Formats: sequence, C-alpha cells, structure tokens
Amino acid sequence: MILKAQSTNMVIMKSSMDLADDVLCAIKRAIGEKTGFIPLHEPSFIGNEWRYVKDCIDSTFVSSVGAYVDRFEIDLAKKVGSKHAIAVVNGTAALHVGLLLSGVKEGDEVLVPALTFVATGNAVRYCSAIPHFVDSCEDTLGINVDKLRVYLSKNTFMVNSQCVNKSTGRVIRAIIPMHTFGHPVDIEGVMKVANEFGIAVVEDAAESLGSAFKGQSTGTFGTVGIFSFNGNKIITTGGGGAIVTNDSEIAKKAKHITTTAKLPHAWEYSHDMVGFNYRMPNINAALGCAQLENLDLFIESKRSLYSRLFFEFSGISGIRLMTEPKNCKSNYWLQTILLDPSHVHERDAILAHSNNLGFMARPAWNLLSNLEIFSNCPTMDLSEARSLEKRIINIPSSANLKQATVG
Ligand SMILES: *Cc1c(COP(=O)(O)O)cnc(C)c1O
Repeated sequence: MILKAQSTNMVIMKSSMDLADDVLCAIKRAIGEKTGFIPLHEPSFIGNEWRYVKDCIDSTFVSSVGAYVDRFEIDLAKKVGSKHAIAVVNGTAALHVGLLLSGVKEGDEVLVPALTFVATGNAVRYCSAIPHFVDSCEDTLGINVDKLRVYLSKNTFMVNSQCVNKSTGRVIRAIIPMHTFGHPVDIEGVMKVANEFGIAVVEDAAESLGSAFKGQSTGTFGTVGIFSFNGNKIITTGGGGAIVTNDSEIAKKAKHITTTAKLPHAWEYSHDMVGFNYRMPNINAALGCAQLENLDLFIESKRSLYSRLFFEFSGISGIRLMTEPKNCKSNYWLQTILLDPSHVHERDAILAHSNNLGFMARPAWNLLSNLEIFSNCPTMDLSEARSLEKRIINIPSSANLKQATVG
C-alpha cells in the first residue's frame, strides 16, 4: 500500500515538473536567451522622457499644476477619445474621486469583481460604502454579466429608480467593471445591466490603457473611467492616475475636488468643501507625456510577444494562453497562462520553477472576498472567480522583451 501511494505521488510530481519545464522552455523560446532576472513587467524609457523631465526641472514647475499636466490631460483624452481627462496622484485616488462623483455615499453598496486588485475594493471603503462582490467569466476574466443579471433580478428590488439589495436594504449605487490584465470585459453587457437597474458605472481601466471594445477605448463607457500610471502599468508617470469622462460637469468637479476644492482667486485661500490633494505633479506628467508618445509601440510589442508565446504554448496540453475576447483589442498588459481545471495542482510547481530560474511569474490576486478586511461584505456565488483564482499565472510581459522594435 505504502509503496503504491508513494509511486502515485512520484508520478504526480514528475508530471508537474514536466509541465513546469515545458512552460519555461516555451517562455524562453518566445523571449529569447536573456541574462539576469526577467521581471513580470518593467517600464521602457526610450523616447523623450529625459528631455521633458529636465525641461520640467529647468522651469522649476515640478509640483502640481504646470504645462505638462495640461498637456498630459489633453494628450490622454485625445488618445482614448474622451472629452475630459483629469490627472491625479494614482489610480486609487482616481477611483475614489470617480466613485464620489458618481454619487456613491456612506452606506451604499458598490458591485466589485471579487477577482481584482485590492485598490478597487479599498476605494469603495474610502467612500464609507460597502463592496458587494460579483463573479467572473473565463472568456474575459472580468465580470460575468449573465450571472450578474440573474442575481440582481432575484436579489434586488427597485425603489424610486434605485436598486435596493433585498437582504441588506442598502442601495446598490455603482458597479466597477475592471479590465483584467488589459483584456476588455463585456462592457456593453455591463452597461446594459447597469442601465436596467439604475446603477452608475465607474470603469476601472487601470490596466487597460489602449485596449478597446468594438473600437471604443476602455475607460470611456461608464460615467467615469480611471487609469493608473504606476511603475508596473503599460505606461508610467512614476506614480499617477487619471479620471476620464465625457460629462463636463463631472470633469469640472473632479478638477475642483482633487485640488483641495480651492476657489479660483489670485491670492485668497477659499475652499468650499473638504477637498483632496490628489493632483498629479508636473514632473510626473512630464514623464507621462513622453510615455504616451510610445504607447502604440508598447502595445505593438506586447501583441507580438503574445503571438510568439501563443505559438510556443500551442503544443503544450493542460494550459492555454489568455487571448483577447471577441470584438476586442487588448493591450496585452500582462500575459496570462490559464491552467485547465484538471491541472490546478501544478500551478505552484510552475511558479516555483519559473521564479527559481529567473523568470518572474505570479498567481492571480487573492479574491477580495477572502481578505479579512472585506470578510463581512455581501457576495454572490463566486464559483468561476474561485476557479480562476487557482488557475491564473502571469508571466514576463514587458514591452522591451520584443527586441525587434523596442529597446
Ligand atoms: C494598478 C491598479 C489600480 C490602482 O492604481 P494605483 O495607481 O496603483 O493606485 C487599481 N485597480 C487595478 C485593477 C489596478 O491594477
């Protein structure tokens, strides 16, 4: 008996190791021989970064408000096709303000995918509102729209055009669709459900700058959308974020509330509400202007890396590479391996093998609903998110891994 158990165990260990080795060899073939540790994602500074930052320092206007902030906002709005963009200190601050300006108040509930970065849930809590977790869908890694519609139909009722949670009595005020690793969620479906139930949409497009759904940029579908320009995102301002909107009134308020709610005056300090110091400094915007000039090039590199990975992975059974959803263009911010459900037990072997040999690989985030800080929040059935949580592996994805055009 013991011998038999041991040998079964050995077989499992061997097959895990085989898959891990196949995956690593495929990554190596796609990326080419590299020396040193390959991070998951690193920025590329191959354009006007030095020039603009130096110019900013020479001008002494390094802090909030300055010519580069204006320019970055104009360039960003143009790039994504929104009327307005408001640059802020980071994506989390953008989410916070986006939620406030969408009417989220203390005691409201906000629908949040369980499978997202913690910032999405934190921003809801900054408004003293309560995240209400929703399930994912394997095709997009984002919100499962069909399941959400059925859930809301069963578990909410409408009062004065507001959607009320039957079991908590709280208003469900907003939903935050997130475009996971750059892949657009079914945003058309999310918009439909949100409109049916009178729920505001705040798009968390932190990871999906340059991605599009049916030709329209992610971030521009909801009442407001947000982007992040943290060091690990597709373009970076060091730290930074932005709110985009087509609503001029919201744009005006966003500028106001992120600039300590100071009333315009040549010398007087007058503030008409408790505002935030959330505006992006000029020196960060200078970096951002240069990065934005190369966004298309970064996306091209990432799409080409995807193609090579797809080719290399096609012969390996038990895994697949995440491909952009139908009718979508993805920026392929982070390349994603999805293990078949029957191979979940091999995830850790793949992670260990890859990291040990200098190719950084990471699992998905812990579902927010599993974190102690959100343990009392309402949730729907999360079976697909739970499955995805165990099956996702992100692998090196930097734009500079495509040597032919970048670097
Ligand atoms: C990065 C990220 C944020 C937060 O952006 P920061 O600029 O780091 O504050 C929010 N949501 C998602 C999904 C992200 O990936």
